[in-house]
Amino acid sequence: PTILAIESSCDETSASVISGGKVLSNIVATQAVHEQYGGVVPELASRAHQQNLIPVVSQALLTANVTKSELKAVAFTRGPGLLGALLVGCSFAKSFALGMNIPLIEVNHMQAHILAHFIDDPKPSFPFLCLTVSGGHTQIVLVKDYLDMEVIGLTTDDAVGEAFDKTAKMLGLPYPGGPMLDKTAALGNPDAFAFPVGNMPGYNYSFSGIKTSVLYFLKDKTKDNPDFVPENLPDICASVQKTLIKTLLKKLVQASKDLNINEIAIAGGVSANTGLRQTLQDFAKKYKWNVYVPAFEYCTDNAAMIAMAAHFQYLKDDFATQYVSPEPKLKIHSAL
Ligand code: ATP
Ligand code: MG
Ligand code: FE
Repeated sequence: PTILAIESSCDETSASVISGGKVLSNIVATQAVHEQYGGVVPELASRAHQQNLIPVVSQALLTANVTKSELKAVAFTRGPGLLGALLVGCSFAKSFALGMNIPLIEVNHMQAHILAHFIDDPKPSFPFLCLTVSGGHTQIVLVKDYLDMEVIGLTTDDAVGEAFDKTAKMLGLPYPGGPMLDKTAALGNPDAFAFPVGNMPGYNYSFSGIKTSVLYFLKDKTKDNPDFVPENLPDICASVQKTLIKTLLKKLVQASKDLNINEIAIAGGVSANTGLRQTLQDFAKKYKWNVYVPAFEYCTDNAAMIAMAAHFQYLKDDFATQYVSPEPKLKIHSAL
């Protein structure tokens, strides 16, 4: 089937066309308006989605060389995400489905981050473990089939992307902090400083502590030396990044051993992190894992992953009705 997919959960307005499981276009408009505030402002995100959506959809159809009448379905992100932002994509998709008289598909954004692995080769085989790390989530997901997933571990407070972004902000790096912290870390010594991290039971995480420990660390060090941060920025970034990666992978190793699964994937915005990608390659050798890392363009928010999920849902006749509404806290749940 040829499907148009819309993503509008946060601050990326994106549209993609997929045909027979092959992505033909993936247009992403990143909203620059939030930079001056150092974080996403929900109301401004909704307004920017409204402005960007139609041009982005037109461009996605044009790039794919597909006309509206060739579309067999239209898909959108139902959640999780910001309510106002989701409403824009949802309302557009509902109107489009009604106008074109084609079925509507509601997609779970977190499930889609994982299904991004099926856009290009190599593709993981079932069952696999996916460490899903993004701006709002940190989960270890047992993926049994395309649409059958179980969250076996998750953060009890902050997401790891939040830990990256907030630490970066404390260090004076511009928004969005995660990618900047990554870049700066590449120039530093990851063993320069040590930061404690909370240990949670099972495969769960806690990332709120590291914010506080970085805060107190900086307070202490800048007391006598106001230039401590500029003098040591790469080392601080590298040390924080190493701590976050170590924490993430410890639980993943445990889950892989317990469940005897060596098909290991990462997904979500933080899977773009070069340190995490490198460490995962090292672990692949050490633990004899087959690791799967998405292309950079499919790590952070994009509609191609929504289109990929919609493709599998279409094949299962998993359609939504006109009564569907966005769900900001939508959870991944097992199909069975
Ligand atoms: P969610 O998917 O949980 O709803 P989201 O959609 O806002 O949240 P994504 O777009 O998937 O999140 O990811 C954005 C997050 O990824 C931000 O926290 C950002 O800082 C982080 N991120 C992106 N690139 C990197 C990088 N290279 N290193 C570390 N973090 C990164
Ligand atoms: Mg974003
Ligand atoms: Fe996301």
